[in-house]
Amino acid sequence: MIAWTDAHNHLQDPRLGDPAPIIASMKLAGVDRCIVNATREDDWSAVENLARAEPDFIRPAFGIHPWQAHTASPGWQTRLAALLEKHPQASLGECGIDSWVDAPSLAIQLPVFIDQLRLARQLGRPITIHSLKAWGVLFDAFAEASPPDRFVMHSYGGSIETARRLLPLGAYFSFSGHFLHPRKSAVLEVFRQLPHDRILLETDAPDMLPPPESITHPLPENHNHPANLPAIGQALAAALGMPATELADITRDNTRRCFGG
Ligand SMILES: [Zn+2]
Repeated sequence: MIAWTDAHNHLQDPRLGDPAPIIASMKLAGVDRCIVNATREDDWSAVENLARAEPDFIRPAFGIHPWQAHTASPGWQTRLAALLEKHPQASLGECGIDSWVDAPSLAIQLPVFIDQLRLARQLGRPITIHSLKAWGVLFDAFAEASPPDRFVMHSYGGSIETARRLLPLGAYFSFSGHFLHPRKSAVLEVFRQLPHDRILLETDAPDMLPPPESITHPLPENHNHPANLPAIGQALAAALGMPATELADITRDNTRRCFGG
């Protein structure tokens, strides 16, 4: 069986229900490891517990998602730093900026993102970035606080030109199954042009549902099951004209290089 690595999901999300059977299905489907991203202070302990229960399968990422920036409570930076120190294999995420949503505003999102960039560089940890319709703001933020040597642009939907500006800074680009929808074919074209040693694969489960032909594990309410990853990987490999085993190996090696170990 081909072994696939999920570079970005949210196994702690209550929309997925009890994580135990979800994890069992992932392993049966051929997923060998995943990076589980927190989204707000309230779910840090859930991510921590998952990583403790499945140390070989789960790598935790702790951070504050731009949609949750308004929920950051005073002193969050100190608590996040302590949590990262406690988990040497943890990365920082999910964080970023998003001008597609009306609220919280960029004025609220930006300082939370910049503090996380600073912390990632200070602690030498990779960081996972969500950037939606905010490329100018992203580069402005980088000018204020440069990203760490390795970082992930998750569910990357930007242009090849933007990717070429991010590559020399240390960016990895993670492909999510949602971009297999025919109306998103421009994203596949970008991934055809990216260097293979910077491509990652993710589900972003329970979000970013792939098209029906890549759903092997349906869930109610159109939630994306993280065990859909092998089918998403097969479809991306076909689109890139590459054997599935090769894409699985490349994306597994890249995830390990980016996140360590
Ligand atoms: Zn996510």
